[in-house]
Amino acid sequence: QATLKESDPELADIIVKEKERQREGLEMIASENFTSLAVLESLSSCLTNKYSEGYPGKRYYGGNQFIDQIENLARARGLELFNLNSNDWGVNVQPYSGSPANLAVYTGVLRPHDRIMGLDLPDGGHLTHGFFTPSKKISATSIFFESMPYKVNPETGLIDYDKLAEAARTFRPQIIIAGISCYSRLLDYGRFRKICDEVGAYLMADMAHVAGLVAAEQIPSPFEYADIVTTTTHKTLRGPRAGVIFFRKGVRSTKANGEKVLYDLEERINQAVFPALQGGPHNNAIAGIATAFKQAKSAEFKEYQAQVIKNAKTLCKGLVDLGYTVATGGTDVHLVLVDVRKTGLTGAKAELVLEEVGIACNKNTVPGDKSAMNPSGIRLGTPALTTRGLLEKDIEQVVVFIDAALKIGSEAVKAAGSPKMVDFTKTLAENASIKQQLEE
Ligand code: PLP
Repeated sequence: QATLKESDPELADIIVKEKERQREGLEMIASENFTSLAVLESLSSCLTNKYSEGYPGKRYYGGNQFIDQIENLARARGLELFNLNSNDWGVNVQPYSGSPANLAVYTGVLRPHDRIMGLDLPDGGHLTHGFFTPSKKISATSIFFESMPYKVNPETGLIDYDKLAEAARTFRPQIIIAGISCYSRLLDYGRFRKICDEVGAYLMADMAHVAGLVAAEQIPSPFEYADIVTTTTHKTLRGPRAGVIFFRKGVRSTKANGEKVLYDLEERINQAVFPALQGGPHNNAIAGIATAFKQAKSAEFKEYQAQVIKNAKTLCKGLVDLGYTVATGGTDVHLVLVDVRKTGLTGAKAELVLEEVGIACNKNTVPGDKSAMNPSGIRLGTPALTTRGLLEKDIEQVVVFIDAALKIGSEAVKAAGSPKMVDFTKTLAENASIKQQLEE
């Protein structure tokens, strides 16, 4: 059998270039990470060959005895990782990624045109929390459901819970989503719960960005308050590219007459994932999830997540000390949202300039921005750099690189013969697994 290089040298060459880009650059996209060799091994295993529509013990195809074991292992480890009892919580590990996971929740729980409320995309929410613009319904979650976003306070950058509560009383949503893609502060899940109880909505926490921090008990967990928790497994959780849904089972509430109202989420959500939205699960990814959940139980993982936050705080302080404005004035998590207007650049230009010197990040709206197409900020995250082994002192050096590029421009940085990123990355104490996966 031919290797990739032998059977498709054109593609193999492109992958080599991407390896080089990942090896020699600094990856600061807050939603990215380097997964482990063990997860990569699962992803490229023979599990990708197998069809297994259905759920363990109830498949539409034969030959699934080992696939059942793998899916059950992933499910059991997911519950264990987040300290959940299988009488109270169930889990579905089949969503292909975070967006399908969120759509599956809405499909299972809502009827078409029911109402959802999520943090607006320009304010730090995600597309799948019901995003639309004045001229267009962008996300399927706003095409099929009615969405009324809530916002951050433009002065403080913090979620305006009072306004959210007020709007929820009028809009009467069936689901309120507590989740972020670009918000550097902790969410007040207790407050969300109160608002949901007042209006009779389900609370769905989308912890895609922060799942690793939650698993490592570095930030509060949404499970105490939420009815449903969705996540991706490839961001801070450092696993394969996939999605997972946790849902409550058992008693939802008790009526005045003492009658117990039970949750009916399990069947509705499982049915929404398959057969409503998906076909055969990606068993190689599910195996990767199982491994990532196991790794996330380790002491090393806890240390890693603590370092992710320390590095984000160091990044934030370094930039603030240099005069940059940071949304909300700081960070409690793995990301920092930086306003770059002081440098005379837009977010888009800043992203480009940084890419030129080998730093990958993304342009982002900052509180008060009028246009999502032409935002004033960039989002910077520390999960990937921390996996590579960077500590606070290294992050201080990264701040110098960022500042130089933004203030004097990438051409000037190159012309001044400033230390190249490649020299810097070569000096880093590399994580052995990453070294191996990015080897020339
Ligand atoms: N939810 C949140 C909060 C996210 O940030 C993202 C991705 O960035 C998603 C869901 C969607 O995940 P995916 O890109 O895997 O579809």
